[in-house]
Amino acid sequence: MTDQSKRSWLHGGLAMVAAGVSGCAQPGAANRSGGPEAAAARSPFVVPRVTLPIAANRAGDASDQVFPVRRIYCIGRNYEAHAREMGSDPRREPPFFFQKPTDAVQFVAPGGVTDHPYPSLTHNYHHEIELVAALKSGGRDIPVAQALDHVYGYALGLDMTRRDLQRAMGAEKKPWEIGKSFDHAAPIGPIFPVALTGHFQDGALWLEVNGQRRQQARLSQMIWSVAEQISQLSEAFELAAGDIIYAGTPENVGPVVRGDLLRGHVDGLPDLQVRIV
Ligand code: MN
Repeated sequence: MTDQSKRSWLHGGLAMVAAGVSGCAQPGAANRSGGPEAAAARSPFVVPRVTLPIAANRAGDASDQVFPVRRIYCIGRNYEAHAREMGSDPRREPPFFFQKPTDAVQFVAPGGVTDHPYPSLTHNYHHEIELVAALKSGGRDIPVAQALDHVYGYALGLDMTRRDLQRAMGAEKKPWEIGKSFDHAAPIGPIFPVALTGHFQDGALWLEVNGQRRQQARLSQMIWSVAEQISQLSEAFELAAGDIIYAGTPENVGPVVRGDLLRGHVDGLPDLQVRIV
């Protein structure tokens, strides 16, 4: 990455904070009903908007636009071998979904290595490399044939998982929340508009830890394609612009420890690198 593009990434970060402050300071008629319409009312403190940089080119240099993140959806067990290693039968199970909180996003700039904090409470912290689709529009009951029309772009992300906590909660039939939905649980690169990359249907997806290949698959091995994921999700939730969808991970998820260097790859995008600290 050039010095110029590093500066523009930094610029993007500052613009994000500024946008959050000005949005909050705007006076407006109070809307006591709450919900998104209340955004113009005055607040006693600032909650930063969560955005991701939008890439200007396939090298991943920053554009002057950011992608506002509304919700983070994740698809469970979307590769056969991973479904088996997690103890389920991929031939029988429909896709299932969970969410991470929007501010679990940790932006990872291409061309560099981003420090990723080892989280609290876990002794078995796992990597899951995934393609991510980012929506520019949404709706309910979206047909598969129209689903890709709602995709603004794609990114490469990690669905980081406190596996011991996820398994313990699952064993007790309690919600997984603590295993999947914690601070920094969603490292992700910039959003690449479809106009730059096209849609992702086949290509290789892999993850290396300290230079050793851990996960490897082709996107065509996904049980549910991105279009099918969008269609199925839209039966359970009304999708909207700003939603991002983690598409599921291939087999050989596994633990990382402090000091490990993770390098994620999908054909067509710059690699994603984080160091566990
Ligand atoms: Mn996952």
